[in-house]
Amino acid sequence: MPKVTFPRMGESWRTFKMLMNDLGNEVVIPPRPNKRTLDYGVRYAPEFACLPLKILMGTYVETCLEGAELIVTSGGSGPCRAGLYGQLHKKILNSIGFPVDIIVFEAPKSHPVDFLRKVNRLNTSRLSYRAIWECIKRGWEKLKYLDDAEKLTHVVRPRELEKGSTTRVYRRVLDWIDTAYTMKEIKEAGEAALEAIRSVPQDPGRNVLKVGIVGEIYVLLEPASNLEIEETLGNLGVEVRRSMFLTGWTRDNTVKETREILTVKDAAAPYIPLCIGGHGQESVGHTVIFAKEGYDGVIQLAPFTCIPEIVARTILNRVSRVHNIPVLTFFLDEQTGKAGMSTRLEAFVDLMRRKKGHAGNLRAQTEAG
Ligand code: SF4
Repeated sequence: MPKVTFPRMGESWRTFKMLMNDLGNEVVIPPRPNKRTLDYGVRYAPEFACLPLKILMGTYVETCLEGAELIVTSGGSGPCRAGLYGQLHKKILNSIGFPVDIIVFEAPKSHPVDFLRKVNRLNTSRLSYRAIWECIKRGWEKLKYLDDAEKLTHVVRPRELEKGSTTRVYRRVLDWIDTAYTMKEIKEAGEAALEAIRSVPQDPGRNVLKVGIVGEIYVLLEPASNLEIEETLGNLGVEVRRSMFLTGWTRDNTVKETREILTVKDAAAPYIPLCIGGHGQESVGHTVIFAKEGYDGVIQLAPFTCIPEIVARTILNRVSRVHNIPVLTFFLDEQTGKAGMSTRLEAFVDLMRRKKGHAGNLRAQTEAG
């Protein structure tokens, strides 16, 4: 039985762990990225590689030290480095003494046969296709509840009466979803988790700001890579809506693009009509949509040296002017610190509050006059 591992992206590891176990593999759970992870990543990855490549490099070294023999990851298409990650990681790991192999899953919609071949390789229990399909359905259900629970914390946290209570409840309910196994258990645990988060005592009348978060997928999905920006914003009284979750991304890349992503691309089209790799086009499209929906601001999360997000950043200046929405960009690398980020966020929140207050005063004067 091979020891399998995979990248850590938020809480999705709980689903992948279950799926890999079901297929008959022993799993080495990737640890939450920390200083040690980054140290390994910086030591072994090329200096100008983007942050996700470095963090994953560090994660793989940590899991290889725990005995991982096979890495399962996803590929990438379009003109950016994501498509090369797998091969690069494997070469580096082999060169530093880890004889690890890597399976890179490409989008099944464009590589269906390759997808099935790779599933078969992981299927050491020799399950039938029907049984595999049942495992995938359970995994999908679990992933949906994990995403829904996280989304709900973004709404509840800025309204909580006791600071930190949402995060405390969220951490607890993650274990409920994690230990659920059958479809019935997953649904029950998921519903109970959502109810527990909803029940956190709140002030429904609180005047919260609404901010959209756009950017590259890894730094959006893994809180350790963005220094828990969503939690910090929630604690500052800001409701965030992240433009991407793993369930949404999977839907768009498994069979065919959903109506939602096509709407985002339409919104981006006047500024950036082509896919430039990564998520640059989506960052622009989502910002336009957030502006039209009346959001108070947008935050872009971009790994340092990420070309698609650098291109998007230059275009977002114009989007910000045309749609009158403040946009703040964080370029993240191993030097980024939480204290500096918090200071910039506080200033941004202040700016949005003043802008909102000013707009409210103008509206009141117009109505009175
Ligand atoms: S999207 Fe950006 S961060 Fe992600 S692989 Fe491409 S260049 Fe690197």
